[in-house]
Amino acid sequence: MKRFLVTGGAGFIGSAVVRMLMRNTSHQVLVVDKLTYAGNLDSLKPAANNTRYRFERADVADFERMRSIIQAYSPDVVMHLAAESHVDRSIDGPGEFLQTNVVGTYALLQAALAYWRGLSSERQAAFRFHHISTDEVFGSLGDDGFFHEEYPYQPSSPYSASKAASDHFVRAWHHTYGLPTLITNCSNNYGPYHFPEKLIPLTILNAIEGKPLPVYGKGENVRDWLYVDDHARALILAAEHGRPGEIYAIGGHNERKNIDVVRTICALVDELVPDKTFGPRGRLITYVTDRPGHDLRYAIDASKIERDLGWRPIETFESGLRKTVEWYLANREWWERVRSGGYRGERLGQGVAI
Ligand code: NAD
Repeated sequence: MKRFLVTGGAGFIGSAVVRMLMRNTSHQVLVVDKLTYAGNLDSLKPAANNTRYRFERADVADFERMRSIIQAYSPDVVMHLAAESHVDRSIDGPGEFLQTNVVGTYALLQAALAYWRGLSSERQAAFRFHHISTDEVFGSLGDDGFFHEEYPYQPSSPYSASKAASDHFVRAWHHTYGLPTLITNCSNNYGPYHFPEKLIPLTILNAIEGKPLPVYGKGENVRDWLYVDDHARALILAAEHGRPGEIYAIGGHNERKNIDVVRTICALVDELVPDKTFGPRGRLITYVTDRPGHDLRYAIDASKIERDLGWRPIETFESGLRKTVEWYLANREWWERVRSGGYRGERLGQGVAI
């Protein structure tokens, strides 16, 4: 049994990690989350009644607060997922991305380092600071090639630049101070509990409701999609068995053009919710002006984590996407509360002091 401190645990990937830690392990979990618009305690309801689970509302950029939370909880693993994560929002307002992704990671590293230095040598050796990052730090690929652990950094959006900066700080805290860090760079995730501002959940919900399905440019951009539970499993595996200082690239071997993703969702929704009013959902596709600096293609060579940690994705894109559409159809209450803003009303009083 280990003590996991998970920052950003109320977000899309963080909540999947926490639900999996509750379901499949005997580890203790403390979620630390600021509850921005992307944080949703509804996504943690399946974990909330477990005595191994606790929640603390805090900003990772608040060094004093993070220091006292870490000292009081005494974690074996800090899994750092808290971030501003939406590329479009980073283009409209980069400041918040620097504050949380760069300053926040620095503050958390400093708090973790102060705590780690006070541990016994045995606990020091077992401790991990696991930084969760993205393949977007590597920039854009052409028609061929794959990102891997040694690929040069070339971020192109304010979001990916802020994540790249945070990766460099984490690596430096390992090399300079000896903090046992791990960095994982993952491709695009999709799955249940995904905030409907991102391509896949937005398309699913708009297709269900017969609303226009916006596609950037000609929909030619390629992403390598990974089902969120496959990512969560890789993260837990890396946190438990990854070697200090290592970097692991994680991807699903599922390259798809955005337009093909949208068409596949349309076909699935047509099959699962036939509706004579809208006709085939493909008719709702609407091409919109491309995002500035839109990277063409991301794809991951995940052979290191497959070889070293024995990880493999379970879902194919087709099986994962079907599960995802079925989840949104069966969990209308979750996304209706997101769309209405109702999920934000329950925030006060939810924090459990430690
Ligand atoms: P998300 O936006 O769904 O969740 C982010 C969470 O962080 C939210 O709960 C939010 O409330 C919290 N948060 C934001 N600022 C905070 C702060 N200052 N202090 C404490 N909590 C704060 O993001 P996600 O999609 O779950 O991504 C999680 C991590 O994984 C991020 O670091 C992201 O860069 C990385 N990542 C995401 C993807 C993807 O496809 N979504 C792919 C690779 C890597």
